[in-house]
Amino acid sequence: MAKYVFVTGGVLSSVGKGITTASLGLLLKARGYSVTAVKIDPYINVDAGTMNPYMHGEVFVTEDGGETDLDLGHYERFLDVNLSKRNNITTGQVYLAVIERERRGDYLGQTVQVIPHITNEIKDRIREVAKTTGSDVVLVEIGGTVGDIEGLPFLEAIRQMGLEEGRENTLFVHVALAPVLSSTGEQKTKPVQHSVQELRRIGIQPDMIIARSSRPLEEEARRKIALYANLPPQAVFSNPDVDVIYEVPLVLEEQGVGSFMARRLGLEDRRPRLDRWREFVNTLKEASVEVKIGMVGKYTRLRDSYMSIIEAIKHSAALLKVKPVLKWYESTDIERNRISPSTPIEESDAIIVLPGFGKRGAEGKIAVIKKAIEEDKPFLGICFGMQLAVVAIARYVAGLEDANTTEIDPDTPHPVIDLLEEQKHVDRLGGTMRLGSYPIRLIHGTLVHKLYGSEIVSERHRHRFEVNPKYLDKLVAAGMDVSGYSLRDGRVEFIELRGHRFFIGSQPHPEFKSRPMKPSPLFTGLISTALER
Ligand code: GLN
Repeated sequence: MAKYVFVTGGVLSSVGKGITTASLGLLLKARGYSVTAVKIDPYINVDAGTMNPYMHGEVFVTEDGGETDLDLGHYERFLDVNLSKRNNITTGQVYLAVIERERRGDYLGQTVQVIPHITNEIKDRIREVAKTTGSDVVLVEIGGTVGDIEGLPFLEAIRQMGLEEGRENTLFVHVALAPVLSSTGEQKTKPVQHSVQELRRIGIQPDMIIARSSRPLEEEARRKIALYANLPPQAVFSNPDVDVIYEVPLVLEEQGVGSFMARRLGLEDRRPRLDRWREFVNTLKEASVEVKIGMVGKYTRLRDSYMSIIEAIKHSAALLKVKPVLKWYESTDIERNRISPSTPIEESDAIIVLPGFGKRGAEGKIAVIKKAIEEDKPFLGICFGMQLAVVAIARYVAGLEDANTTEIDPDTPHPVIDLLEEQKHVDRLGGTMRLGSYPIRLIHGTLVHKLYGSEIVSERHRHRFEVNPKYLDKLVAAGMDVSGYSLRDGRVEFIELRGHRFFIGSQPHPEFKSRPMKPSPLFTGLISTALER
């Protein structure tokens, strides 16, 4: 039978609840328990796929093609597990299922209500994850903060689970912000007190509190929080700001969080194995040789939009023992001539053209890619970045004037990137892209094959457009190589440029499968080439 750790948030969102949840999971995993994690998002969208990255950050893609909250990325990276779309539960999914059932007549005669029908659906979905994964521990993070109207049914559901699963099988963790006042430097606990009160009003007494703060929790603050939360001071832990997010589990372990959770859940408190993790964190903190990476995209104002790529760079940099310095370039600024396309090339050791959608900023990205080709700058284009690389090669190497992707110019004379055949009849937006993991056959002798070191690889996808096979001969004759095709239907998955030091376009998103200590070969290759000069 699974144990459940429920994580709620107080005071503010975006205080690192996802990383805290992932860290708690790691401490249990390091003790030899199998762990999975569920993110609950109380919004009405069915999934994150239709949300603007500016509002929501990156859309994380799972193996099975779920378009999920970026916290699933943290869970996968900290726990080194592959999660499913079932690990992200939203209000939209819950209501959709219940309403469909009602329309089918499954509830005939009954009044369908939030309690018990919605709450039962929530509990079923959480338990389903426990059952299908067979995990020893399931962490369940409730998005948003306690007191949000939309979060109430979820809090009620986990309250009921506490009762039904039994006290020794459930643990309630509350993560809340203890702000430090800039005027006096004082650490304030009142907001935490209030959010705990709100939680208790709903009927949940937290078992432990993790106070997020810019600096370690003071003794006086700990005592106060404990008193108002009806807890011993030993159940109040400190989660101060750290330079490297991967350090959070170590900071918590030092305070005895892992043992506290194990004991409280009736699990044997084995010695945690964190040596390799510690080494990884130390490498990240100590690396001093800088490698500058030019990040070209159009959501650069919210870095969360590219979360997995940023983390993938760190994983590869740790392997190479170097310090990545990310330099951001807004492609719209390049397009409007506010920044020269040469600037990112001059200021960086390598260029990544980031994934994206739509016309705005695309010509700015193409201009940078053109320079990267001319200047022999190490280059990686991901998804849209790959597609625009093919456009640049078509225009400036193969001489196909005005070549484009039909996403930007539907009337281009040379549609080198075009809508996937199966996309031509899709009229709904949600969950209709080519999504998830597909196997890819790599071509011997290509750089991509050399980097991966195997013939069949699998990476995750999220796109509607692809390389138009009608143009392949021309592009290949001009110097482009296809380094990988999808195993099933021969779509172009990777391209590279012959004679260039490192110029790779990847239709899939290699960043989603990069993990600490298991980095993606494409990022490692890019960075190590960038270091050569
Ligand atoms: N807009 C492109 C497509 O839909 C690329 C998507 C992406 O970069 N994830 O194919």
